Amino acid sequence: METKFYLLPKLPYEYKDLEPHISEEQLGIHHDKHHQTYVNGANAILQKLDKARKEGADLDVKSTLKELSFNVGGHLLHSLFWGNLAPAGKGGGEPGGVLGDAIEEEFGSFERFKKEFTQAAVSVEGSGWAALTFCTQTNRPVIMQIEKHNTNIYPMFGILMVLDVWEHAYYLDYKNERAKYVEAFWNIVNWGEVNKRLEELLKE
Ligand code: MN
Repeated sequence: METKFYLLPKLPYEYKDLEPHISEEQLGIHHDKHHQTYVNGANAILQKLDKARKEGADLDVKSTLKELSFNVGGHLLHSLFWGNLAPAGKGGGEPGGVLGDAIEEEFGSFERFKKEFTQAAVSVEGSGWAALTFCTQTNRPVIMQIEKHNTNIYPMFGILMVLDVWEHAYYLDYKNERAKYVEAFWNIVNWGEVNKRLEELLKE
């Protein structure tokens, strides 16, 4: 029950393993600098809350909670992202299992899903994410387009797969060409992991 703060998770592969789709330099900075910043940011706010509560001091609750949501969202989404990527040559293709069936049933085909998800990712206004989620009330997979790390989220939908489309995720490799980065993403999706997330959600 202890564990009171967030930790940067280790990647399940090496920084160079996603090349040529994501370079070692790009992935290294993304994980070690950008993700770490959200972990530090979230922990600093938790410490600030601890301190203010202990001292009985007043807080700007509105701005503190907004900042906490942003940083925790950033940390959790990045953690999901690393896990739904696979080393080049070991990812991509099409999903099987219960996920493959759910996508086929909802979208009509994997190609149709891929097209909609790509459009969601490419069209995020400013910085954000595309996410494949699942609604257990309707048993439908739903594409979620997240702005920043925490806007447009459906509470309670399980997140199966995310794609980071912040410029910090691709700028070194693709400059301003987000669409090329999104196209490359499909080569390194870890469908086994995405399918496993759905299986675990359905067990609950
Ligand atoms: Mn990122």
